[in-house]
Amino acid sequence: MDSLIKIESVNKIYGEKIKTQVLFDIDLLINEGEFCSIIGPSGSGKSSLLNIIGALQRPTNGSVYIENNRIDQMNDKSLTEIRKNYIGFIYQNSNLFPDFSVLENVLIPFYISNGSPSKKNIEEAKNMLEKVGLKERINNKSTDLSGGQKQRVSIARALVGDKKIILADEPTGALDSNSGKEVFQIMKDMNREKNITFIIITHDDSIAKQTNRIISIFDGKITKDEKN
Ligand code: ADP
Ligand code: MG
Repeated sequence: MDSLIKIESVNKIYGEKIKTQVLFDIDLLINEGEFCSIIGPSGSGKSSLLNIIGALQRPTNGSVYIENNRIDQMNDKSLTEIRKNYIGFIYQNSNLFPDFSVLENVLIPFYISNGSPSKKNIEEAKNMLEKVGLKERINNKSTDLSGGQKQRVSIARALVGDKKIILADEPTGALDSNSGKEVFQIMKDMNREKNITFIIITHDDSIAKQTNRIISIFDGKITKDEKN
């Protein structure tokens, strides 16, 4: 079977007048069910690469495929569909809506795509919140939660809608080490139980070591790609 994610000769250059190249001829294949990390110094191009995989940014040239859909030249409407059908994002800050309940925050993807969530959507969101250990908190305001709990809500939100791919940009970067471990463990469980593909950018070596593949980036190039 073809890879779930295929990147071929991707370059990324920012700027019009003053051009800064931040990714150089990146080739990368990621199969369904992989649990990968991306490591590398600040400014090395990790987030740019993740955003290109996630159809949030376009490469300057090269090709990007998500399950055989070539996305680098797709129109914006089709890209929105690709994100909706395949990809969930998790960021360093959970970016929850403070005035919304925990459940409502997890339902946001459905508010965006369908206008309002169906009963089935609500069931799915509740199940996901149970999976991340927040069953008792669904009616709390998101501001009632600790940092680790907020991040667990953002995992639930990233996963609803049967996403196959989760892209996480330093998901434990703002957490104390115990909450970070819990959040990481949930991602690992989701990978094992549901075969969801994870790509996790991290500065934390102890986290990278617990993934199955470590991709190292330095100055916009993949310098190492090791099974773990
Ligand atoms: P990392 O996530 O590894 O820290 P990034 O992909 O965020 O790296 O950034 C790589 C380089 O590209 C950095 O030098 C950064 O300043 C630059 N950069 C990122 N986004 C933009 C942008 N939108 N416009 C111009 N330069 C950018
Ligand atoms: Mg970054």
